[in-house]
Amino acid sequence: MNEPIKTDVLIIGAGPCGLFAVFELGLLDMKAHLVDILDKIGGQCAELYPEKPIYDIPGIPFVTGQGLRDALMMQIKPFGPAFHLQEMVETLEKIGDPLFRVTTDRGNVFETKVIVIAAGGGSFQPKRPPIPGIEAYESTSVFYSVRQMEAFRGRRILIVGGGDSALDWTLNLAPLASHLTLLHRRSEFRAAPDSVNKMMALVGEGKVDFVLGQVSELQGADGQIAKAIVKRNDGSNFEIACDALLPFFGLTMKLGPVADWGIKMEDDLIPVDTAAFETNIPGIFAIGDINTYPGKLKLILCGFHEGALMAQKAYHYVYPDKRLVFQYTTSSTSLQKKLGVT
Ligand SMILES: Cc1cc2nc3c(=O)[nH]c(=O)nc-3n(C[C@H](O)[C@H](O)[C@H](O)COP(=O)(O)OP(=O)(O)OC[C@H]3O[C@@H](n4cnc5c(N)ncnc54)[C@H](O)[C@@H]3O)c2cc1C
Repeated sequence: MNEPIKTDVLIIGAGPCGLFAVFELGLLDMKAHLVDILDKIGGQCAELYPEKPIYDIPGIPFVTGQGLRDALMMQIKPFGPAFHLQEMVETLEKIGDPLFRVTTDRGNVFETKVIVIAAGGGSFQPKRPPIPGIEAYESTSVFYSVRQMEAFRGRRILIVGGGDSALDWTLNLAPLASHLTLLHRRSEFRAAPDSVNKMMALVGEGKVDFVLGQVSELQGADGQIAKAIVKRNDGSNFEIACDALLPFFGLTMKLGPVADWGIKMEDDLIPVDTAAFETNIPGIFAIGDINTYPGKLKLILCGFHEGALMAQKAYHYVYPDKRLVFQYTTSSTSLQKKLGVT
């Protein structure tokens, strides 16, 4: 076992809510380490929609997923959080009151007074469509997310699906593609009506093809697709020539080890109180998409609020003998010193 890394707070998950928690904890003099399974910081924003715009972050009319991640990183810089990426928290045990020992699949051991679970839906994985041999094309010409839109410039793109991701990427990639086809098995969509209307307008202008049917076979060589064989709903087949296939069949959220940590769970979510977003185990908090309570909305802004209230209670575990004085960043010189702005 490695020498334990000692910290005030261990945050499990470096998504937007875990990142903002660093800020709220830092203002109250609590140091945080963050562990994330992914090789990058930013959770869903960075992994699933880095170039998509978010319109409902308070005070920021427009920011992309990556832009929000970058802004949060800038905001928490004064607090010097330590990141441990490509590591999955596996076990968690109580060794004090409160003191926890946490281990990762890389053999790192943390001893922490407070744990903040900001694990979103766990490790998220795209649902693979039932197309024989699709694995051979994955990451070279079959993609389940769009990391860089430019990579698709000039390509013949086939997007499959009828939800928000399929429609959003149809709208975003149509201007870049040399040809774009949207394939869906029926004419009803699960996506936002506005996106469907915009897609239909592009179809009307001849900028996108919309086809009903399902991919039954892929043909190509050395990981590069050349065409997709599509089965129409009447059973007949036809071909779509394409260089890139983007299937958007939703995500499977694999909760992973969170369920084994002895914390009360409800339908793969962690129930919390709404005063501090603490779980049934004192000293263990859950914020962001992973938690549940009456009225819960899986919105980033809600996770930010949860992080602020969590930090107020966490303070009493980290500094049991100190009194916490509520302060504004606008007027407190001590907070401004911590932020490095005075
Ligand atoms: C396409 C799309 C568009 C969206 N648009 C908006 C929007 O416009 N506005 C909005 O408010 N919300 C939006 N959301 C939702 C928003 O992204 C989520 O609410 C937000 O990401 C939740 O943040 P989080 O920090 O709780 O979890 P996540 O962002 O899910 O991050 C959790 C992190 O925890 C890690 N993790 C999980 N288990 C472990 C473990 N055992 N050990 C270590 N690490 C672990 C994961 O790898 C992940 O990086 C959108 C989501 C999607 C998919």
